[in-house]
Amino acid sequence: TLIKFVYLTLFLLDHFIILQVETSLKLITPLASGPAEPPRNKVTVVGVGMVGMACAVSILLRELADELALVDVIEDKLKGEMMDLQHGSLFLKTPVIVADKDYSVTANSRIVVVTAGVRQQEGESRLNLVQRNVNIFKHIIPQIVKHSPNCILIVVSNPVDVLTYVTWKLSGLPKHRVIGSGTNLDSARFRYLMAERLGIHSSSFNGWILGEHGDTSVPVWSGTNVAGVSLQKLNPDMGTDKDKENWKEAHKMVVDSAYEVIRLKGYTNWAIGLSVADLTESLIKNMNRVHPVSTMVKGMYGISEEVYLSLPCVLNSTGVSSVVNMTLTGDEIGQLKKSADTLWGIQKDLKDL
Ligand code: NAD
Repeated sequence: TLIKFVYLTLFLLDHFIILQVETSLKLITPLASGPAEPPRNKVTVVGVGMVGMACAVSILLRELADELALVDVIEDKLKGEMMDLQHGSLFLKTPVIVADKDYSVTANSRIVVVTAGVRQQEGESRLNLVQRNVNIFKHIIPQIVKHSPNCILIVVSNPVDVLTYVTWKLSGLPKHRVIGSGTNLDSARFRYLMAERLGIHSSSFNGWILGEHGDTSVPVWSGTNVAGVSLQKLNPDMGTDKDKENWKEAHKMVVDSAYEVIRLKGYTNWAIGLSVADLTESLIKNMNRVHPVSTMVKGMYGISEEVYLSLPCVLNSTGVSSVVNMTLTGDEIGQLKKSADTLWGIQKDLKDL
């Protein structure tokens, strides 16, 4: 009976497939022959946690990719996320959405966003995550590069600056193709908070947070402006402890904001997802837009070690094509160097890179 059942199933399956092919041939006459073209704007997201999925959805909604690949180690969750997105295909412009724990699914990616790893627990610092995430990256990065040797890597996992350095070392890629999301998010938070206080839209407040993503980030008060009007010229004490209006609080809120959101909802994801899609757009569309992202800063502002820190970077289809030289004050340069020292203090003890 079992053999009969197997034969019957095979017969039905075969018959069904033939019927399907027949119907589609009746409906559609093929013109082109030969192998399908490889994707041109494929984006891979590694890690389908809260941050990875926010990045994936933001990239989908901005219509940047012709193929999206997802990778994770938890197979059920990975398949579930893939299916859920595929079911939204009607509302998207990315015709191919694939997922697998095997990295061959990522082949021919133009951009790879790495969000895999552990995240901060309530009250935990980003730097505390370092060794656990370095071990995860030793597995991930060589696989990505093997299947997409020409890709640009955007590292998001924390501590992002250290892990971008780790990725650069593990990948063997040139430094301009390994980018950390860095203070792109901190700057967006800063612009939102400052603009809100001034009653204008975030995009109309110009201000940059540089250095380390996180606790030692550097607000460039000397460069804050609205429509070219320098805020520090209007209030020379801005950003200092002497300032009666206490604008410095906005930067403190930026530093505290991840901790606050994690305390309230357990993780942060939407703003980082939106900000990563913005970076992806500049890379894919060769836009030459300037973003505060983490890049290799050795030799700049007197920094002598190989550390990744955020500076205003011109992003185009080559990755970080150049870095804008800010006119920083002595104090701001001192703070950048302090960020570099903090990061080097951690990196120098990392082994097997
Ligand atoms: P999460 O726990 O929700 O997701 C992490 C995912 O990584 C999980 O699905 C897990 O299975 C996967 N993963 C673990 N090991 C893996 C491996 N070897 N290969 C593939 N996938 C693997 O965490 P999350 O909230 O999505 O955060 C992810 C990372 O992003 C954390 O390190 C977090 O600190 C960081 N983050 C960075 C920023 C930023 O501005 N740079 C902002 C928010 C969060």
